[in-house]
Amino acid sequence: MQRLLGKRALITAAGQGIGKATALRLAEEGAEVLATDVNAATLDELNGTPGITTQVLNVLDAEAITATVAAAGRIDILFNCAGVVHAGDIMQSTEDDWDFAFALNCKAMYRMLRAVLPGMVAQGGGSIINMASVAGPLTAPPNRFIYSASKAAVGGITKSVAQDYVKQGIRCNAVCPGTVDSPSLHQRLRDTGNYESAMAAFIARQPMGRIGKPKEIAAMVAYLAADESAYTTGQLIALDGGWTI
Ligand code: NAD
Repeated sequence: MQRLLGKRALITAAGQGIGKATALRLAEEGAEVLATDVNAATLDELNGTPGITTQVLNVLDAEAITATVAAAGRIDILFNCAGVVHAGDIMQSTEDDWDFAFALNCKAMYRMLRAVLPGMVAQGGGSIINMASVAGPLTAPPNRFIYSASKAAVGGITKSVAQDYVKQGIRCNAVCPGTVDSPSLHQRLRDTGNYESAMAAFIARQPMGRIGKPKEIAAMVAYLAADESAYTTGQLIALDGGWTI
């Protein structure tokens, strides 16, 4: 199905994991995709894919955001995917950890939204999808204090933007994945010092008995990007193998 023909999408953190799977899916659905990431090497793997243009964008760089959005032209779909997981409870965290996580998970999103919204207002519509997590908006996994706090803020950002722009034809939703297979997930498992038992514990969080696939999140982003979901805004949608039933 090509639900996104004629639409132009901008994705952050599209070099690997969920962002990459989403770039591929939106392009398959007919969108013209600007796939951005701070890492030029991973982004390079998307070069040559029909419908995808790549560009290095560090979302911690406010000027780079402004320049990228200004050069991008019309943007119908914005997928704010960039984010980082901090591991630890409150006493295991530092103020630097807090500042970095909120800079990447929230402030970068705020800046992307402020850069993209005026164009969407001028053109009379758009669909924004923010990357949250089950951690924060919907539940609190152990040892994810800063991560949950920052992703809960993504829920507030999403609902506020949805509320304030609903009359201008702009929709804003968030996806809230449970555990999803991605390069950084494997790194987090290795960082525990016991990959096998950490993986077993992560799988056990999902009653379905498995972790999710990036493609499964990409499919929801494609739906939220498409006009098919035109009646849906301000929602935090869990894709979590039953974790938060
Ligand atoms: P990942 O963590 O493996 O990759 C993250 C990507 O972000 C990388 O390509 C990296 O280069 C890019 N990135 C990092 N800093 C950046 C910056 N400053 N500017 C631009 N890009 C930057 O991928 P993932 O696990 O699919 O995570 C993507 C998003 O999904 C994150 O926001 C994460 O919190 C969220 N999420 C992931 C899971 C999961 O289990 N994997 C679950 C819920 C939510």
